[in-house]
Amino acid sequence: MSDRKRRQLIQAILSAPLAAGAVLPGRAAAQGQSLPAWQPGLLDIHHIATGRGNATLMVLPDGTTLLMDAGATDDSLDVSFSPRPDGSRRPGQWIARYIQRRLKETGTQALDYLMVSHFHPDHTGDVGADAPPSRLGPYRLSGVTDVAEMVPIGTVVDRDFPGYDYPTVWTAPFATNYFSYVKSRVTKGQDVQRFRVGTDKQFVGKGHHRVPGKFGVRNLVANGEVWTGVGEGTVKMFPPLDTLDRKDYPNENLCSSGLRLDYGDFRYFSCGDLTSYTYDGEQPWRDVLTAAARASGPVDVATADHHGLFDGLSADTVRLLRPQAWMIQTWHISQPDLLQLERMFSERLYPGAREVYATSVMKENLVANRRMLSRLKSIDGHIVVRVAQDGTFNIFVTDNADESDRVKMVSGPHRSSRKSA
Ligand SMILES: [Zn+2]
Repeated sequence: MSDRKRRQLIQAILSAPLAAGAVLPGRAAAQGQSLPAWQPGLLDIHHIATGRGNATLMVLPDGTTLLMDAGATDDSLDVSFSPRPDGSRRPGQWIARYIQRRLKETGTQALDYLMVSHFHPDHTGDVGADAPPSRLGPYRLSGVTDVAEMVPIGTVVDRDFPGYDYPTVWTAPFATNYFSYVKSRVTKGQDVQRFRVGTDKQFVGKGHHRVPGKFGVRNLVANGEVWTGVGEGTVKMFPPLDTLDRKDYPNENLCSSGLRLDYGDFRYFSCGDLTSYTYDGEQPWRDVLTAAARASGPVDVATADHHGLFDGLSADTVRLLRPQAWMIQTWHISQPDLLQLERMFSERLYPGAREVYATSVMKENLVANRRMLSRLKSIDGHIVVRVAQDGTFNIFVTDNADESDRVKMVSGPHRSSRKSA
């Protein structure tokens, strides 16, 4: 295809109307304006779209804030989305500024929790030769550390503190830089914790505002250990490492930690880059994502973990979670994958309407997968899920071309399926 033809095709796809959704007329007023400010009693889940990796900010109903990941890849523009809003700041700086705007709304000065799902750079920050040194400690600035440089953080939680040796010791700069940051926190007496699978008492509300609704975070999975769904019980899926060939060790994605966030009847599921792929049945213990979905049970909104890549959602994961909305956090040319989209949309796997959103889909992917991608509600922009105390929720897509938080579209109100059941 000639360049001109290709550009015309992309233009046609981009200008085609997105699939019609349940947009209430009353909500149309919000389009074109800034996202209405958070208020006590609302749960906001911001899928921040920098085009360079994952960053999800949860503002809990009492104003407690939890950031899951702050990615910043150095990948070149032929395989990665371009930085948003632009390259004048690093992705972690854009994320920090986004968080600062939200903290202003909650009247707080610090991020209460940072949870690092796993140690890959699109979740923690690549550290290239030009990453500047921190003023606060002996590490360099990218992703997580860029956020920490600009926003005080109460507690850092990750899957392998304090040993950082499971299943092997990382030597890549993106990991060792993060470990240096953690070490610096420990030296200063700042809180760092290991992610505790099965509990709902690690990410607790700080009570910045008094609100009547019940909310909580359940730690579902990390390092192949999965919540049983009963009490704080867990089960370990990985065989002992000494029984495995080195090449069969669980990889970093498979060790991802993940959670379920509840507010009244509303449920949200997100597990980093957890995967379900078993080498086509050769190693069933690798299907950790399906086990996490089984522990979680049905939810209203779920992320398509591992960026909607081929090894993410199994058919059973989709059947078990059956959300009304899927969030795909995309940034790479290969994301999302066509079969993953097929599963998310499949009414054979579960009945009923559902919406699918992606944060940053590259044009090349759009051209390759346009048959399915034309059904997405959004392919570019921050995606904000806002949940009220009665379990109803709206989904906003806001513009990431600048910092105006201008609403591009609204969908809802949706009602929690547990409520309508
Ligand atoms: Zn990733």
